[in-house]
Amino acid sequence: MPSTSSFVRSAVSKYKFGAHMSGAGGISNSVTNAFNTGCNSFAMFLKSPRKWVSPQYTQEEVNKFKKNCETYNYNPLTDVLPHGQYFINLANPDKEKAEKSYESFMDDLNRCEQLGVGLYNLHPGSTLKGDHQLQLKQLASYLNKAIKETKFVKIVLENMAGTGNLVGSSLVDLKEVIGMIEDKSRIGVCIDTCHTFAAGYDISTTEAFNNFWKEFDDVIGFKYLSAVHLNDSKAPLGANRDLHERLGQGYLGIDVFRMIAHSEYLQGIPIVLETPYENDEGYGNEIKLLEWLESKSENELLKDKEYVEKNKTLQKLGAKSRKEQLDKFEVKQKKRAGASKRKKATVEPGDNDILSQMTKKRKTKKE
Ligand SMILES: [Zn+2]
Ligand SMILES: [Zn+2]
Repeated sequence: MPSTSSFVRSAVSKYKFGAHMSGAGGISNSVTNAFNTGCNSFAMFLKSPRKWVSPQYTQEEVNKFKKNCETYNYNPLTDVLPHGQYFINLANPDKEKAEKSYESFMDDLNRCEQLGVGLYNLHPGSTLKGDHQLQLKQLASYLNKAIKETKFVKIVLENMAGTGNLVGSSLVDLKEVIGMIEDKSRIGVCIDTCHTFAAGYDISTTEAFNNFWKEFDDVIGFKYLSAVHLNDSKAPLGANRDLHERLGQGYLGIDVFRMIAHSEYLQGIPIVLETPYENDEGYGNEIKLLEWLESKSENELLKDKEYVEKNKTLQKLGAKSRKEQLDKFEVKQKKRAGASKRKKATVEPGDNDILSQMTKKRKTKKE
């Protein structure tokens, strides 16, 4: 069912702020939902994120999607970033499972091209108990094959919050995979702010924020930066927990998002919210918050009472949750210190991202 909230799209923002939209009732509804939420870009699932196989789109639905993009002025090549299914794992050492992933992945890419969508966000998966380098090679060879079998869609690898065998928790993994891609015009990276912080890259202060992007440019290169996922983090730095929080309420805080809204290198690419909300109104308000942050000049912030108050209010809202996660993190660290020599546990692929919140949506929304 299309969203009923109504926010006006900004015509002056230099950034493509948007959010993950529901495509319930038909993929073309994601476009109208995005428009009604005030999105300048948006994401959606191409099919059910819970099932391996979903019915193909009808030609009528494809036409409707394209028509909606035209009507509401979204360029599907640059403004739409569908999210792949979480269980796709092209790095899986179990060949049969990797093949099954590839099938679903190819189906996603074909859907993108049917819709005329130019970007596709993928979790790079997990090498599980396999040899990390060998499995990265397998991932890259699947990506090369998929690129040859499709025409134009760019595969955008998302960085991850975990450790070790979860591919993309380290920027170096992404660099290595990109290095093995034959057609480099068809590969990119999406930086998720929550994943980045949870993986241990601090971005919470001005200095740390600038250092991270410098490191990103040194290791991967800005030319590969194709999108950003915007989430605050419920868990502290390096906790390896993928727990999205509403902007300003987590360990990142509002100033990180103000810096995002002032980073020239983020202009022109989709910047997509995946914060936990039960309806699109929350996203609409956060896009307005981002546009407000864009209007705030850095020099006068401390004197800006409205800004200081906003920061305080949001931090207060998230205080209880931050404390809970900090306590859990400290317990885990103590255990880790006690058992540091024990064998590393394997990390399962994929996080819960927006899937859990889409589940919540289902409970509150009629489809
Ligand atoms: Zn994300
Ligand atoms: Zn994701």
